[in-house]
Amino acid sequence: MMFLPRKGRPRRPEAGRNAHRRDRGLFSKDELQRYARHITLPEIGGVGQRRLKTARVLVVGAGGLGSPVLLYLAAAGVGTIGVIDDDAVDVSNLQRQIIHRNATLDMPKVRSARQELAALNPFVRVKPYHRRLTSGIAVDLISEYDLVLDGTDSYATRALINKAAQASGRAVIAGAISAWEGQVTLYDPAQGAPCFACIFPQASAPGLAVTCAETGVIGALPGVIGTMMAMEAIKEITGAGTGLRGRMVIYDGLSAEMRTITLTRRADCAVCGVG
Ligand SMILES: [Zn+2]
Repeated sequence: MMFLPRKGRPRRPEAGRNAHRRDRGLFSKDELQRYARHITLPEIGGVGQRRLKTARVLVVGAGGLGSPVLLYLAAAGVGTIGVIDDDAVDVSNLQRQIIHRNATLDMPKVRSARQELAALNPFVRVKPYHRRLTSGIAVDLISEYDLVLDGTDSYATRALINKAAQASGRAVIAGAISAWEGQVTLYDPAQGAPCFACIFPQASAPGLAVTCAETGVIGALPGVIGTMMAMEAIKEITGAGTGLRGRMVIYDGLSAEMRTITLTRRADCAVCGVG
């Protein structure tokens, strides 16, 4: 049970054909129609859709990766979505940060994002935090959520999220992009999978120390990687399929190639290692 352990749910939802009847109390008629294509899927069903509705997911960063993450999680009916970002919408963001609009230039990104999510799905609750994630608030904030999605572009923030998630026993779905290449994985030392520090113990790790502002980034790349992050989050919440614990998907946009590598936990990891 890697998700919401206090509820002791079964790993796999059974896609009952009485899902509609059971969900009548939790879902309105509009919601049942809205999520009909999910409920039809055997791996999601009414049980999985309920799990999405009761899930609380924190998205760190409302930029390139955060845009598709937030849009797909809200569209999927994730009931409570927290989003933290201290930035405002800049015109140079609009080439890839598709949750923002020309009309929301200069607006705090979390407000611009909340506006768009409310327009997409009024049945989800969005909690915007217009501030930087700091060590003073990270553990308390992450503890309020079941799952964290890291779409930030700084090594220091990634390391901070990793430490706070480890302290809170929360899994982190992390995406990273640079120029034409991106990667996605799920860090979860509580379930035996590596954490971020197991894989990237130092800030000099290639592709992580530089930002999109320095290297440039192709606009559709965060769309690919952020959408994969949303996919993995929906799987993690519903228990569908096999997640990315101990595996990392690497996507090279220039050659249109994708490969999956195995990641191993380090016993001497400074964050999750023993002693
Ligand atoms: Zn570790």
